[in-house]
Amino acid sequence: MELLLMGPPGAGKGTQAEVLTEKFNIPHISTGDMFRAAVKEGTELGKKAKECMDKGQLVPDEVTIGIVKERLSKDDCKKGFLLDGFPRTVEQADALTKILEELKLPNIRVLNINVPKEELVERAVGRRICKGCGKTYHLKFNPPKKENVCDACGKELYQRADDTAETMNERIGVYEASTKPLIEYYKKMGVYEEVDGKLSIEKVSEALIGLLS
Ligand SMILES: [Zn+2]
Repeated sequence: MELLLMGPPGAGKGTQAEVLTEKFNIPHISTGDMFRAAVKEGTELGKKAKECMDKGQLVPDEVTIGIVKERLSKDDCKKGFLLDGFPRTVEQADALTKILEELKLPNIRVLNINVPKEELVERAVGRRICKGCGKTYHLKFNPPKKENVCDACGKELYQRADDTAETMNERIGVYEASTKPLIEYYKKMGVYEEVDGKLSIEKVSEALIGLLS
């Protein structure tokens, strides 16, 4: 089962990735983890990536793609994997298609958690976090019993500085612009599916598992 999970910021992709990797017993491969592992193992590509990151530069595509290939070649990926955060561009998607052909893993499926922009903005703007224990609330969907006070530990709640309509609109705009060509790419390959991300976490999990079972 070769999965690519997509979803805009705030769509709950991380949570769903956890559910799916546990359910289907496949590794969760995120770009960040992959880079950290390559750097830690001290591979040639890992060293190159570290050089760029230390200088604050973007890691060149050939390095990123090489790291992805090394990771997907490992034994734990033979039964499949869930890829998260890669590819980000059509060029990377093309490279991934070639890697999967070489590794004889030709059955990639691309699942997108689709949430309308307005909904994502509403979720972010209403989010409140406890200063004490980090528990999250939502003014509308999951309010604390007492206004601005954590149910669990009694400390004050705060709003993250980037949980504003303006920041969210910008982030989602950037995300949509960059993923649109990717969605087209995978639609053309006939491997693209999406689920309704407006539903509850449990319902979204059910929908994803339903598609894959
Ligand atoms: Zn708390």
